[in-house]
Amino acid sequence: SEFTKLEWNKAPCRFCGTGCSVMVARKEGRIVATQGDPDCEVNRGLTCIKGYFLSKIMYGEDRLKTPMLRMTNGKFDKNGDFTPISWDKAFDIMAEKWKATIKKKGPTAIGMFGSGQWTVWEGYAASKLMKAGFGSNNIDPNARHCMASAVGGFMRTFGIDEPMGCYNDMEEADKFVLWGSNMAEMHPILWTRVTDRRLSAPHVRVAVLSTYRHRSFDLADLPIIFTPQADLAVLNYIANYIIQNNAVNWDFVKKHVNFRKGMTDIGYGLRPTHPLQQQAQNADKAGASSPSSFEEFKKFVAEYDIDKAHEISAVPKHKLLELAKWYADPETRITSFWTMGANQHTRGVWCNNLLYNIHLLTGKIATPGCSPFSLTGQPSACGTAREVGTFSHRLPADMVVANPKHRAITEKIWKIPSGIIPPKPGYHAVLQNRKLKDGELNCYWVQVNNNMQAAPNMNEEGLPGYRNPENFIVVSDPYPTVTTQAADLVLPTAMWVEKEGAYGNAERRTQFWYQMVQAPGESKSDLWQLVEFSKRFITDEVWPKEVLDANPSYKGKTLFDVLYKNGQVDKFPLSDRAEGYDNQESEAFGFYIQKGLFEEYATFGRGHGHDLAPFDDYHEAHGLRWPVVDGKETLWRFKKGSDPYAKRAEWDFYGKPDGKAIIFALPYEPPAESPDADYDLWLCTGRVLEHWHSGSMTQRVPELYKAFPNAVCYMHPVDAKKRGLRRGDEVIVQSRRGETKTRVETRGRNKPPEGLVYVPWFDASQLINKVTLDATDPISKQTDFKKCAVKVIKA
Ligand code: SF4
Repeated sequence: SEFTKLEWNKAPCRFCGTGCSVMVARKEGRIVATQGDPDCEVNRGLTCIKGYFLSKIMYGEDRLKTPMLRMTNGKFDKNGDFTPISWDKAFDIMAEKWKATIKKKGPTAIGMFGSGQWTVWEGYAASKLMKAGFGSNNIDPNARHCMASAVGGFMRTFGIDEPMGCYNDMEEADKFVLWGSNMAEMHPILWTRVTDRRLSAPHVRVAVLSTYRHRSFDLADLPIIFTPQADLAVLNYIANYIIQNNAVNWDFVKKHVNFRKGMTDIGYGLRPTHPLQQQAQNADKAGASSPSSFEEFKKFVAEYDIDKAHEISAVPKHKLLELAKWYADPETRITSFWTMGANQHTRGVWCNNLLYNIHLLTGKIATPGCSPFSLTGQPSACGTAREVGTFSHRLPADMVVANPKHRAITEKIWKIPSGIIPPKPGYHAVLQNRKLKDGELNCYWVQVNNNMQAAPNMNEEGLPGYRNPENFIVVSDPYPTVTTQAADLVLPTAMWVEKEGAYGNAERRTQFWYQMVQAPGESKSDLWQLVEFSKRFITDEVWPKEVLDANPSYKGKTLFDVLYKNGQVDKFPLSDRAEGYDNQESEAFGFYIQKGLFEEYATFGRGHGHDLAPFDDYHEAHGLRWPVVDGKETLWRFKKGSDPYAKRAEWDFYGKPDGKAIIFALPYEPPAESPDADYDLWLCTGRVLEHWHSGSMTQRVPELYKAFPNAVCYMHPVDAKKRGLRRGDEVIVQSRRGETKTRVETRGRNKPPEGLVYVPWFDASQLINKVTLDATDPISKQTDFKKCAVKVIKA
């Protein structure tokens, strides 16, 4: 039959951080179908609508197939038209620009922006090229906009990154609480598991907290709408309730928890000259966190009584009480989920810390059904962006550039001389755009994201930097996007199963796939682009002279030799590859480069709580959750008997030297911008089920496009009426920074309360990020896309 002529292979879904595995069908060199992988525990044969249409994402009519440079009369011209050129010419001009800039201004004028959509080895190769090759820490992932606050929360509370729980919590918990997460649309397969648990176990209950009503509310037993930013107050109220009602798990707290107080930074992360930033500095008190006690914490949260929590949040008191009781009940196994509502927040790190506080006070952590669980948005936000160290301040396995020991460990594993990795963190995502605009960052390479659509305040702080005549912007993408339109050089990129890859999902699960088809035209993978580009530089052109004088054996070597090829050719021969699969990168470089990079990277984590299995195991398994020790994956971390690293006590938070997690005393703080007489509505932005991120892939799938072709402005009918607007009217959503045109929607899946509008950002024809504010959490530098002030007027 036709069906049996298909060759089926497993691959993780290209989209969200859920990490579903799909079976992918190939026929005559083309992907023709996908279906849920029945052997993967994550999705058990299911996919959401995006996963269902995965086979079509590579076949949009406008795939980019050749490098293109803006040119006039055969020469580069920033205002010229895109003209096809060869890869050789593309790398020639890139290398020329890079070298001239490094010579003139040094490595801090070079930058790169990537994402959690890089495969594990692509992110690793990119980080190595930037930090070890060019000596610049100015590399950051789109994950900065997505879960940098989650990273900050983990590092502050536990000293080690990523969730302690796993998806099995969904079959174990008695209560689920969603804090700023619309799982029904953003993690739909996980939502099927929560729904299944809720509907099949009569005692199970679900609470959903958000600033607007969305599809996850359909399952909510306890629906809660709160005033934007008030989650901080609600969380402190719950901690206070637990203490006041003798629900503290004393045995747990005494053995496994330390207390700290105080803030660590100030302000809203805006430009220092921004009036809102100055206001924040005047209003705020600076101070590093310092040791504290339970008594001090008790006193600190005592002011967050039910009256104050209600006053700040506008949540009815009976709902606040009910929620607090869920956490306080010693018999209830409770799992808290959160995503962008908590992370995209000017106090996202605090919000994460406060969530851990209530789980730590009650000892409801790291056991089945008891998880504070931060979900991720991108397919390899964990596996790549966080774990391999693509953030501007990070190195692999939770290490940081500012720590001399961490740099020394990294330089040793990378076999490069000491003193190459710069000690100062590079520019983070929002700062990169500002530095491009200011002309301090001049050569910039964007891979695996659509930053001109995704970045906040792109009207004032995004586009001007890309079009700054002093800058040379390179964008790698499979499709034309708002970002490629703003570029000087566009590189066509192989995607998903057009290359061999690895992703790591939100529950620490690493998944591999083989290359199954050829990319169209001259498209090449991001890995090939990075590694091939490295051949254009010799160390003498980019490394400090004094380092090379002290290590003369490195002189005259290409970056390809010292970063990628170094000792790998014999260790990882081409013959290691599985038969029957193409692997164009390996063929191009003469060794199994993916395996070489992965095994080198894995040495960072093995023996340090981040153990990854051997490379070949992942091609067999349908994902393994790290730490993988003696071939066994870890389901719940920090718990003796479950996590091989938890040895010192029943719970061993081994990211901290004394094995104790930290409860932080952190206050409510007002948002950076709130509605006023001129801009009288809150704006919240986000995604929709049918489209993933900026829609550059899903908008090219006809079925998904038709299902939700254009973004709309979801608005309460009373707010619409007040403005003389009817459903479907064309309107302008305007802030102090910019405006975009859309249509009013007063019905449907999202139902904001009066005073708030919700606009999805997937639609390139309606750039809502012209409107958003580039305020960031001062600790994590993550952007707050969930609240700013706008007005809505008839177009
Ligand atoms: Fe699963 Fe997410 Fe892909 Fe949907 S988009 S199939 S939930 S990984």
